Formats: sequence, structure tokens, C-alpha cells
Amino acid sequence: MRAVDGLKRVVIVGGGTAGWMTAAAFSKALHGLPLSITLIESDEIGTVGVGEATIPAIHHFNAFLGLNQADFMRHCQATFKLGIEFINWGKVPGSYIHPFTRFGLDHTNLPFHQMWMAYAKDDLAAGRTTGIEAFSLACVAARKGLFAHPVSGAGSDITRLNYAFHFDASLYARYLRSYAETRGVTRVEGKIVDARQNVDTGFVTQVVLSDGRAVDGDFFIDCSGFRGLLIEQALKTGYEDWTHWLPADRAIAVPSDNGDRLLPLTQATTEAAGWRWSIPLQHRRGNGYVFSSQYLTEDAARETLLQSLPAQPQAEPRTIRFVTGKRKAGWNRNVVAVGLSSGFLEPLESTSIHLIQAAILRILAHFPDAEFSPADVAAYNRETSAEMERVRDFVILHYKTAGREDTSFWRYCRDMSVPDSLSHAIEAFKSRGRLTISHDNLFSVHSWLAVLLGQGILPSALDPLLGTLPLSELNAVMAQQRGEIDQALKGLRRHEDYLDAFCRAH
Ligand code: FAD
Repeated sequence: MRAVDGLKRVVIVGGGTAGWMTAAAFSKALHGLPLSITLIESDEIGTVGVGEATIPAIHHFNAFLGLNQADFMRHCQATFKLGIEFINWGKVPGSYIHPFTRFGLDHTNLPFHQMWMAYAKDDLAAGRTTGIEAFSLACVAARKGLFAHPVSGAGSDITRLNYAFHFDASLYARYLRSYAETRGVTRVEGKIVDARQNVDTGFVTQVVLSDGRAVDGDFFIDCSGFRGLLIEQALKTGYEDWTHWLPADRAIAVPSDNGDRLLPLTQATTEAAGWRWSIPLQHRRGNGYVFSSQYLTEDAARETLLQSLPAQPQAEPRTIRFVTGKRKAGWNRNVVAVGLSSGFLEPLESTSIHLIQAAILRILAHFPDAEFSPADVAAYNRETSAEMERVRDFVILHYKTAGREDTSFWRYCRDMSVPDSLSHAIEAFKSRGRLTISHDNLFSVHSWLAVLLGQGILPSALDPLLGTLPLSELNAVMAQQRGEIDQALKGLRRHEDYLDAFCRAH
């Protein structure tokens, strides 16, 4: 075995959420190695300025950094999130919740949802699919606006809440900037106007700022946002466009005052050419309309958004343009794209910040030496693509199976062809209610179940093994599980009160 020299200079291009998450994680994980970490950001260009909802995996990232939860929540104006309420995606009017907590417990090898469909067959025949929410503590708690931290070791798996956060991603970036700078990351303010490359290898060697300063590097992390300064503008990596499956290409965002309640929920409501988000933070509410410009003008989208606000807007609405899809390779030569520079799936399932964290941890798992092993780079790219495609399928599922057919946008979604991987999953569920979701999928069978049932997709027959469970036992299992959830609810408090007390006390 040979020893290969390590890298000496890591340069992070961009100081949005992706840039500072990368800087913070690297400052922690690479501590003790003889290398420098420099982050360059431009005050003139600024950041994308949106991003508020997360999924529970954020706990792993924050724990990896060793953040104190209450301190983080205070600095980032965070609230607790138990899931997403999808309004008018199935029946119109109607809503269902995609919770972070499981539905029910399996029993003698029978999946819970199969038992529930047998138990609720009359409801299902009448088109009522959301009764399953009574078997998810998160759903019941979220609808009532209740929360408390799960108590480790207490109760069974259905009585423990799993949760994420709503927070201001710009404040999170600022918070992590202070973390990273304290641990030795150097911040350079300036606008990059050029990237120099080695003529033989094409590796990026230096970025040049508008005032003539140059920053040399061995390994570059491109966190420059949609523009993809290094990965695309310098290296011409290419982009896989998924607009035919995820047709939204614009968002209009506007913060407003909060309405009367701070539910521990993101709300996603269908509109004529897309959907609208509503996200409660401590100091304001994030609102936005994600739509397709092929089907709606910006003026009409802005009007719809402003009409829907729960309270006074706090700023002028802002339009953000994007193309759903992913970079053909996340890692090209000595550049890795992290954040919006690597692709964008649209925010329906709050996955972008998670994909940033996953990319950072994957870079650390494949951290290069001066030779940049092609096998490591290829493995990184394979894993990144597979992850994006799994999340993509889950997001497309919402559009493809939505109940709305009243506008040409929704009729397009109903009729569009979808990736085979997704068709197979939908067909398996429609046939015998099987959930054929792999264990490495970010969204578990419970997530798929929430969306499939919530949007009114039902199997034509159930698992034949249900015949092994006598009706009396089925009824007893259901009653017992429901009782456990009702009991667990008693330990929860009004979300606003709990949040306030938690942020003050810790
Ligand atoms: P940016 O914030 O754009 O940062 C780019 C950085 O690069 C900036 O610091 C900029 O100054 C710098 N830069 C660019 N060019 C130069 C240059 N020439 N010289 C120097 N510096 C430069 N994610 C979620 O997880 N949950 C959500 O609910 C969510 N909602 C979203 C809603 C919308 C409409 C959009 C568009 C995104 C949403 N996201 C969400 C995604 C989330 O906002 C981003 O993933 C996250 O903010 C990371 O952005 P970024 O750091 O990659 O890019």
C-alpha cells in the first residue's frame, strides 16, 4: 500500500445554507488534519433566501455538530414540525397528513396497514381514507396543535413522536457561520468572476475575485446556488432536466405575520397550477406558491398568494425561477456540488436541506486524497443519483395521483408518464396493498402509505394472509393500539406553550 499526500486547501464557494452547513461539518470532521478551509461568499449576490421546512434527519446533522437544541431553535426562530398537511391533494375539499411517526404496529407478521384496511373496509368503500390517522400519534397531535419531546424508553413505537423543525434557513446559515469560524474556517467576502483550471487535467486550481484577489485550492465544494459557478459554468457538467415529471418552474415567496395558531405542521395546498406552502416560524410565517409558468402567469400566482395570507405580508413577494432536475454528476474532477448547485426537486417534501446534509456526510465518507480516486468519485456519484431518484419518485407520486382534474395543469399531471420505478410501486399498492419500498429509501413505507391512501389510492384486494387473523382479534388489536395513542396524547401540550417554555428553559 502506498501513502498518498493529503489535500492542503479546501475551498467552499458560496455562503448560503449549503455553504455554511458544509463549512461547519468540515470544521468538525476534519479537525486535526493539516488542511485549511476557506469559504467565499458575495454580499452583493446574496442567497436564495427561502427554505424553512425540514425532515427529522436534521437531528443527526445537528447532533454531529453537537448543537444544543434550544439554543439552535432560539437563534433560527424554529418551531416543531410533526409532518405536512396536504390540503386538497386527494378529495377536494379535504386533507391528509404525512406524519413523521409511523401508523400503527404490525401484528403477527401482518403489516399494520393491511389490518387497518380490513378493519376500515366500510369507510374505504365510502371513500373515507383518512381514518388511519387515528393510529398515528403525530397526525392526531398535529391536528390538535399539540407537542412534547418523546421520552426515551417510554411506551411502544406508536407512542413516540418523531419530529423535525421549521426554521429560517438564512438564520441557520448565520448560526453555523459562527460555529465554523470559531473552529478555524476563514471567510472571504467577494464576488468570484473567474475560475482557473489545470490545462491537462481540467481540475480547478484557483478562483479569482472581482477585485483581483485569487484563492487557490486543491478541493472545491460548489455551494454557489442555482448558477453552479464551478460545476457548470467552469466544468460544463450538464443537467438532467425533470420538468416533464415535476413541471413547476417558479415560486413566489412572501413572509407574513403568523395567524392565530402555530400548528406543528407545514401546510401544502393545491392551487390551479401547483401548490402553496404555509410554514409557521416563531417570528413570522413563510408563504409561497410553487407553480408552472406554462400554465399560469406570475401576476396571477402573486395575486392568489397574497389573497391566501393568514395575516399582513412583511415584505414584497419575490419570484424564484428554477428547473427541477439534477446535475449529471455531483462530483466532477476536484469539484463537488452541494445544495442548489447540485439540483433541485422543488420543496414539496422539504428535502433540500436534507440532501445538503446527505451530500456532506457522503463527501466525508469518500473524502479524497491528492489523487482523487476515480472509484471513490464514481461511488459518490452513483449514491447521489440513486438518492435523488428515490426522492424524486416520491415527490412525483403526489402530482401523479392527485385528485384534482379541474385545470389543464392537473390534467397534465394525471396523464403524464412517470419513471418505471414509481409505476411499479403504485401498481404493487393498487394490486394487493403491498408497499415495495426499499429500506434505504429516505421515505419509509409509512410515508408512502400516507400519500397513497391520502390521495385515495386503494388496492383492489388485500393480503391473503389476513385470513389468519380472526375478526375478534383484529378488532381487539385496533382498539388496543388506539387506546395507547389516546393515552399518549395526554402527555402532550399546546405547541406554542411547549415551544415557549422549552426555548426559555434550556
Ligand atoms: P444559495 O442560498 O443561493 O447560496 C449561494 C451562495 O453562493 C451565496 O452565498 C452567494 O452569495 C454565493 N455566490 C454565488 N455566486 C457567487 C459568486 N460569483 N461569487 C461569490 N459568491 C457567490 N429546502 C428545504 O429543506 N426546505 C424547504 O422548505 C425549502 N423550501 C424552498 C423553497 C423554494 C422556492 C426554493 C427555491 C428552495 C427551497 N428549499 C428548501 C431549498 C433551500 O432553500 C436551499 O437548499 C438552501 O437554502 C441552500 O441553498 P444554497 O446554499 O445551495 O444556495
